[in-house]
Amino acid sequence: MEKLIIEARVNEYAMRKRNPNVPWSAEEITKDAVECREAGASILHFHARQENGAPCHDAERYAQTIAMVHEATDLLIHPTLGANTVEASPEGRLAHVLEMAKDPRTRPDLAPMDMGSTNIDVFDRGEKKYRTTDQMYINTTATLLYFAKALKAAGLKPCAVAWNITYLRETLLFHEMGMLDEPIYLGLTLTEGPISAGHPASPAGLDAYLNLLPDDIKIVWTVYNYGGNLLNLAEKIIAAGGHISVGLGDYPYAEIGVPTNAELISKFVDVAKSLGREIATPAETRTILGMD
Ligand code: ZN
Repeated sequence: MEKLIIEARVNEYAMRKRNPNVPWSAEEITKDAVECREAGASILHFHARQENGAPCHDAERYAQTIAMVHEATDLLIHPTLGANTVEASPEGRLAHVLEMAKDPRTRPDLAPMDMGSTNIDVFDRGEKKYRTTDQMYINTTATLLYFAKALKAAGLKPCAVAWNITYLRETLLFHEMGMLDEPIYLGLTLTEGPISAGHPASPAGLDAYLNLLPDDIKIVWTVYNYGGNLLNLAEKIIAAGGHISVGLGDYPYAEIGVPTNAELISKFVDVAKSLGREIATPAETRTILGMD
């Protein structure tokens, strides 16, 4: 079985109330990235954040963070797109990534393409009602076609992200059009907690994706659990040949105390070791993803 790729999702838009170890600044993200690399991660996924933790869409901050991480580690770098809101244009969302790709010091390796659109309203389980009722994560087909073309021209590897089966179907159609090359790096999103946009983080929720993966296309699939504990599915994913994308950005992991991202990753490395699966280095990850 191919070696296990561990992608560290270090911060997303997580705050620090439930776990203060979420990195925000470029310095904090770099320090965290070094520790995650030592623990077994080969890809860093991050969101730029302001000093108070608010989302930061400043291209300079992305460039500064990537330059610092490149100096400190050999991790592959997977920044988020600049904005995920309705008003941002496709060009605006990708501009910082394309700009950074021109300079080897700030060049990312991967960029995400969420292959569809969905409601992402936050549900308050205690109150049994929605806190928001109009939040949509919109990625039109036209936007995705633009992303696919622009990333290909820049020589960056897309990470196709599925939130449910319809996203997987759109991913396969993009492959059929020659817009997504094999091996496809495919993120399978499970969600727990306040957001219901992904499949449930249960064996059945994961199997609903796996049962529909085609056999004749090389797909390197990885799993997220946004809002929940991915350790519950770690054995199943790793034994089935999948890969792991995990971090404090998705969930604070209070079940194991107040872990750092690196401590969390080491838990998944332990599961892999117990199953006899080796961990991929960044160089090996590049080969697995066809990026050599
Ligand atoms: Zn993200």
